[in-house]
Amino acid sequence: MLGPPGAGKGTQANRLAKSQGIPHISTGDILREAVQSETELGRQAKAIMDSGQLVSDEIVIGIVRERLERSDTASGFLLDGFPRTVNQAEVLDGLLEGRDPLIVVDLHVEDEELVRRLSRRRVCGSCGAIFGVLQGEGLASCESCGGSLEQRSDDQEGVVRERLAVYRHKTQPLVDFYRGRQTFCAVDGAQSETVVAAAIAIAVDETDAEKNITAERTTA
Ligand code: AMP
Repeated sequence: MLGPPGAGKGTQANRLAKSQGIPHISTGDILREAVQSETELGRQAKAIMDSGQLVSDEIVIGIVRERLERSDTASGFLLDGFPRTVNQAEVLDGLLEGRDPLIVVDLHVEDEELVRRLSRRRVCGSCGAIFGVLQGEGLASCESCGGSLEQRSDDQEGVVRERLAVYRHKTQPLVDFYRGRQTFCAVDGAQSETVVAAAIAIAVDETDAEKNITAERTTA
């Protein structure tokens, strides 16, 4: 799942992974857990994440390589927040050799809408559910589990602008890297959550069908 911060990758990846019965692998979530548990990885990543920059390719590739070795990824998985650089994408292609082709979903949303969404985003500290609060109102607790809602330290406006700049510079080139593939689909992420989810489900089904037709042609 590709797209700038605030495009809804986490929310949509969560829904899609559940509906497909596959693991949702978010490098951002794995890094935040490491920060919270104060592991060596967390200590290395914290300052970089708080400044809106990218953690090194070496670190995140190591995380993904290890995660993809687990048996629950055998019949598919959903990557959210990875790859974020062309180098990561090239390494990922190598890691996926012998597996089905990657389906790439690019969620597109304009910058002003992203800044507005991120400033209102709150995350449940217990279950990780994501909410958008209305200005001046604020949700007191998580509607799913009752846990307390927090603002991510990198969702403050200055850091958000930096993350968007990093996205344009380092991650957007990935759209061109993948665009020529038959398994690439672009979805307008500015619509409501349910409309985007339906559009993604249709795009993934069509891409999946196209992928199978291509595989049949190749073996015929
Ligand atoms: P996210 O939750 O996907 O917005 O990620 C939060 C932060 O984690 C990013 O701003 C980066 O600092 C770091 N991060 C997550 N995934 C990657 C990645 N694939 N490459 C480099 N840094 C990452």
